[in-house]
Amino acid sequence: MPISREPIGGSCEAGTVERCRSSVVGRLAPSPTGAQHVGNARTYLIAWLSARSRSGRVVLRIEDIDSPRVKPGAAEQALEDLRWLGLDWDDGPILQTPRLPLYQAALDKLKAAERVYPCTCTRADIERAASAPHLDHEGPPYPGTCAHRRAADAAVLERTGQRFAWRFRSEPGPFRFEDAFLGAVTVPAELCGDFVVWKSAGTPAYQLAVVVDDAAMGVTEVIRGDDLVPSTPRQLQLYRALALTPPRFCHVPLVVGPDGRRLAKRHGDTRLSTLRQAGVRAEELIGYLAHSCGWLDRPRPISARELIPRFDLRTIPRQPLVFTERWGAA
Ligand code: GLU
Ligand code: ZN
Repeated sequence: MPISREPIGGSCEAGTVERCRSSVVGRLAPSPTGAQHVGNARTYLIAWLSARSRSGRVVLRIEDIDSPRVKPGAAEQALEDLRWLGLDWDDGPILQTPRLPLYQAALDKLKAAERVYPCTCTRADIERAASAPHLDHEGPPYPGTCAHRRAADAAVLERTGQRFAWRFRSEPGPFRFEDAFLGAVTVPAELCGDFVVWKSAGTPAYQLAVVVDDAAMGVTEVIRGDDLVPSTPRQLQLYRALALTPPRFCHVPLVVGPDGRRLAKRHGDTRLSTLRQAGVRAEELIGYLAHSCGWLDRPRPISARELIPRFDLRTIPRQPLVFTERWGAA
């Protein structure tokens, strides 16, 4: 898989006239921790159309720092899924693992500013906080057990062989931010608290990597599932602490099963690869999703590209999409 090592910014030199007309940069950021399903497809479609409808660029980033949950072959599968959907990109795929020095540099800045402290709390606590915290996995706010430490205390812990993570000193919640889809959002204090930016395993946590990457890649707009709303105040604090310019955030409703829970295995096989193998055409799925977003008056086969002039964030219903199709079912 080709890897871009250089941070890519908004430079137009190498771009076509078409791409240069706008400074919008969106991104697709699959985690290769499992298969991409119908829910992912809807979010990617919205993110892609939002950028393309304003002649923006699209960055594809594979969020592969989430080891050991990364599954062999899942990154390649995600690329195949996106190609099948007809969603293309201008930059990438960019992997995170070769970018460790960038994350390390950001961590060093946070240490120098005493915005992080070494945290020796149990591994289970830390692991839970370390990957993209989709709401159902979120634990209680960190009680501040290790907050008395200074960054320099890490040296002592290292000497005595103690494992520790780096935790960011959060401002107290609640937090408010302006979301391009949801409008004014308030994240309650119960969902805030000091959070892990560097795992005891020696790798960056999702919150830090995503901020460093989105900033380095010149991303101007982050469109993702609304289960990540509680992450946004954390990321906004990191942008501030690192003196980086934040993107516009836009959280869209998830796809859920008939029981109202986030689409998952229990709802049957909605993996894109399974639909593909079952002979479902990408245009059928795209048409179904476009209808669910209010861009078609009835579901009918259509390509992602044909939807560009029809894209409108405002027609997307505020409630989750309940997925009941039996595509791909035997
Ligand atoms: N890779 C993350 C996920 O699939 C997305 C994180 C983000 O969009 O910020 O959950
Ligand atoms: Zn601790």
